[in-house]
Amino acid sequence: MRPVGVGGITITHATLHNADEIERLGLKIGDTVVVSRAGDVIPQVTKVLKELRSGKEKAFKMPAECPVDGSPVVRDGAIYRCGNKLCGARHREMLHHFTARSTFDIRGLGPQIIDKFLDEGLIADAADIFTLKEGDIAALERFGERSAKNIVKEVQSKKEVPLARFISSLSILHVGEETANVLAQRIAGLDGEISKPTGVLKAFRKMAPEDLQEIPDIGPKVSDSIHSWFQEKRNQEFLKKLERVGVRISRVRTLSKSGPLKGRVFVLTGTLASLEREDAKEKIRALGGATSESVSKKTTYVVVGDNPGSKYDKAKELGVKTLDEGEFLEMLK
Ligand SMILES: [Zn+2]
Repeated sequence: MRPVGVGGITITHATLHNADEIERLGLKIGDTVVVSRAGDVIPQVTKVLKELRSGKEKAFKMPAECPVDGSPVVRDGAIYRCGNKLCGARHREMLHHFTARSTFDIRGLGPQIIDKFLDEGLIADAADIFTLKEGDIAALERFGERSAKNIVKEVQSKKEVPLARFISSLSILHVGEETANVLAQRIAGLDGEISKPTGVLKAFRKMAPEDLQEIPDIGPKVSDSIHSWFQEKRNQEFLKKLERVGVRISRVRTLSKSGPLKGRVFVLTGTLASLEREDAKEKIRALGGATSESVSKKTTYVVVGDNPGSKYDKAKELGVKTLDEGEFLEMLK
């Protein structure tokens, strides 16, 4: 978009969520729009000013073929995907997700650097990240010895993640952060302490889709997706490779079903001054509590930070108790 100032910040991009939303707004390419920042900071298009159209606006059409490998695009609800599981673009996105904050949290290995390493042949999959050598990185254009050293050091310090983050890092279709948490709680209880990637494989291979559906929030579509992911030879090899390069599942109390926050469901909204959202969620889980992305009657507390979003309004509407940061921190003690 042409840059515009909203609430003291210059906005050049705003989310349209998905094709259904584009249709709902009636948005065309070249339109003038109203942009707002929801409490969760992400700018979004809220309205199309059709009266300002010049007649040159063009309708948006979702491509029928993947722009990277030409495979047919498959529609799944509001989501469109390349139909090829081995598509290079999908693989790239998976690698970007693997190093992100909510998964392995490898700082300094953002999407651009991952792309560069892929293009230069330094890595072929996520497991290769853990065997990166300083010399290989330093040989690349724009990378000095010092940055190469920092990357290798950072990678080596991030080989252990909690089970839920590990499951989330695998980019299994329909398995987001919350589903990964529920799955982690379930399989940790099945097999005692899981400390290795092949332990995760073993636990899931034992479960039929029907077993998976007994887990709260998991329906047939999700269970089929999980089940087939762990049956695929390529994915099994990938888990074994992760283990060989030293990836481990860290012991966390997050999986304890007891703890002072047992049975309480937290939703976070707005920015907390003293800790990152991911860390706050982990602390809640470590004390036996649960987290959710949406406010419902099942929500026990909504933790309200700076610039809270619609979740705060929803909490008031449903009469869910809200906590400010101070009250929340007190509870974590
Ligand atoms: Zn593709």
